[in-house]
Amino acid sequence: MSVIHTENVNTLGRSLCIITGASKGFGRTLTHQVVYLLKPRSVLLLVARSGILLQELRMELQSFCEEQQLLIQCITADLSTKDGVNETVTVARQQAVNEPDHVLLINNAGSLGEISSFVNFTDPGMVSSYMAFNVSSALALTAGILQAFPSSPALRWTVVNVSSLYALEASSSWVLYCTAKAARKMMFKVLAEDEPNVKVLSYSPGPMDTEMQEEIRRITGVSHHLFPCKESAAKLMKLLLENDFPSGEHIDFFEVQS
Ligand code: NDP
Repeated sequence: MSVIHTENVNTLGRSLCIITGASKGFGRTLTHQVVYLLKPRSVLLLVARSGILLQELRMELQSFCEEQQLLIQCITADLSTKDGVNETVTVARQQAVNEPDHVLLINNAGSLGEISSFVNFTDPGMVSSYMAFNVSSALALTAGILQAFPSSPALRWTVVNVSSLYALEASSSWVLYCTAKAARKMMFKVLAEDEPNVKVLSYSPGPMDTEMQEEIRRITGVSHHLFPCKESAAKLMKLLLENDFPSGEHIDFFEVQS
């Protein structure tokens, strides 16, 4: 059963916050916003394959973090691999000594995959490799972090699944992306059932101006009206601060008031 718990505070507490896909696009913008909501002695773990971009991001935030006693750690990892997931869990586990009040895991990393007619997907290996990153790694990472920081009534625990409208709606030629987003939505609903002390949110961030959208434009030739990442990130921060969504809920950018 879903639990509604209203906080109405302007901080996320002394947190261990993990953001996957933090090097670019939405994840990078989320990092820029979440950092202002963390209490001193929080730790922010940023995960992506591009170590250089992560280090640049860390440098951008360094003086603020020093002032606020926040620690940022970059994890250069490929989350499509077992090693990448394990390394992220290992680094997170090392943060247990900081005894966070809140564990916040934002499963943001994702990829577009091939956009093509259904009949072209005859290679099971190619499909599995897409699902390994976009579905399996989010499950394995979330499970690993939950083992490292077991949920309890005394610990605030939040998991965000960065979702999409395509988790709910079918779109021609988008079989990989729609299937993965739909699977993730169900996966995180099951988590909400399994773990009553974990607040789970599937957030569909709306059409945003990122490299992923550039790729969509290039492949399909279609351009959409796009919103800046910061608008969508601000709505996600609002949802997290208010914390009154039922666990397991799927909420769209257009449903959240600015
Ligand atoms: P981008 O392609 O701009 O960024 C994707 C991020 O994921 C990058 O930081 C990338 O870092 C990381 N990433 C990709 N592959 C891996 C990997 N194997 N291991 C670790 N990290 C990886 O995407 P967006 O910012 O646009 O999208 C972010 C999320 O929002 C995705 O889940 C997407 O599906 C969702 N979304 C986006 C929308 C949009 O309009 N942009 C609309 C709806 C949902 P690196 O390359 O350094 O590894």
